[in-house]
Amino acid sequence: MSDRPAIDFQFGGRLSLDLTWTVRYRAVFPTELLATPADVRRWFEAVGLPAPDRPSVADLHDTRELREAIHRAATALVEGSRIQAADRSLINRRAATPPPFPVLTADGVRRWDMATGTGTAPALSVVARDAIELFAAAGDGRLRRCSGPQCSLLFHDDSRPGARRWCATARCGNRANTKAYRDRRRDPV
Ligand SMILES: [Zn+2]
Repeated sequence: MSDRPAIDFQFGGRLSLDLTWTVRYRAVFPTELLATPADVRRWFEAVGLPAPDRPSVADLHDTRELREAIHRAATALVEGSRIQAADRSLINRRAATPPPFPVLTADGVRRWDMATGTGTAPALSVVARDAIELFAAAGDGRLRRCSGPQCSLLFHDDSRPGARRWCATARCGNRANTKAYRDRRRDPV
């Protein structure tokens, strides 16, 4: 039997927002994808950040805590309001932790490492720094919420036209396009 969640991680390519994607269907039936410390390890591995082999329950808590602060902050900006002071200071505090450092291996390969005993703090620092960069540029109007029914994922539109309405075209966008296509087919004109 697999201990993996029924829904696997998805990524839009913007680190800090991708962390918020670990709660799916937040608006309709919130589904926690970081259910265990092992999920935390899998997520950091997937985004290429070093994390402890066996994250602690505290690491799980810290990761979810930063995720929720980023989600609330991004939601505030999408809705045209200000980020709450508590969320801003949590993100700032996480970003102030030293991030992972590069190590040159004997094979001449660079890998990322972190001081022992630091848990997920270095990796969370990278996520928090990305959030700060993202939020400081939020005036560009490209931080949005997916228009997909039931989706509500937050994304940053990096496309040149900047008119994206969907978290990722392969999922919501496609589904919406298919629906529009079916609706057109039904239309007698
Ligand atoms: Zn979506």
